[in-house]
Amino acid sequence: MTQSTADEKAIVQNYFNTTGFDRWRRIYGTDQVSKVQADIRMGHQQTIDTVLAWLKADGSLKGKLICDAGCGVGSLSIPLAALGARVYASDISEKMVAEARDRAAAQLNGHHELILSVSDLEALRGQYHIVICLDVLIHYPDSQMARMLAHLSSLAMERLIVSFAPKTPKYTLLKKIGEFFPGASKTTRAYLHSEELIVGILRDLGWRIERNAMTKTRFYFSRLLEAVRA
Ligand code: SAM
Repeated sequence: MTQSTADEKAIVQNYFNTTGFDRWRRIYGTDQVSKVQADIRMGHQQTIDTVLAWLKADGSLKGKLICDAGCGVGSLSIPLAALGARVYASDISEKMVAEARDRAAAQLNGHHELILSVSDLEALRGQYHIVICLDVLIHYPDSQMARMLAHLSSLAMERLIVSFAPKTPKYTLLKKIGEFFPGASKTTRAYLHSEELIVGILRDLGWRIERNAMTKTRFYFSRLLEAVRA
């Protein structure tokens, strides 16, 4: 890892352990939030629901080994564990993982298999049937995509599911406008990525895109790709 990559990660990690933790814990929760945050909450839930629908459509998840890289507060990991998957969820932020642990304890009983740990996704090891990385790549620039996707790919035996904020003229403008809003100080760096770039990297790594979905609400936009071994 270069020094600039390490610095970039330290900034993201610090954000999700401080102001970002408070912001995203609320967005990914059920308490009353601002209109913008409620819109982001709804969009994010749609992304989670799409992933769950894709996985359920392909049969039982019982015993499937799933890696949820950058799991946040467990919004996807917890329902996956409830469906019988063996979930290895991790996040670079200790605070997010602690919150995920609390939520898992409240929502799951002891029969479910959800192992939570603090880790940079590029430090993860092992082999999983399915590797999922939702709304994490947005925090890193294009220059890091090939390396991060190659690492996620090396962990996945059957499927890789990733989401990113697509770079289109409309979203580029929306992001510029967003940066002028006062709430922007509570956000962290966000990068848009072209679909061609992400799909091209996945193809070069030996993956074929099986499913593709776009979630868009007023303030949340996320392109979701499911790749299978070509
Ligand atoms: N994937 C979760 C979801 O969709 O509910 C959380 C999405 S949240 C916007 C982004 C998460 O990515 C944060 O919890 C953050 O700490 C985590 N993250 C950022 N960079 C990471 C990295 N290099 N490795 C692991 N987690 C990371």
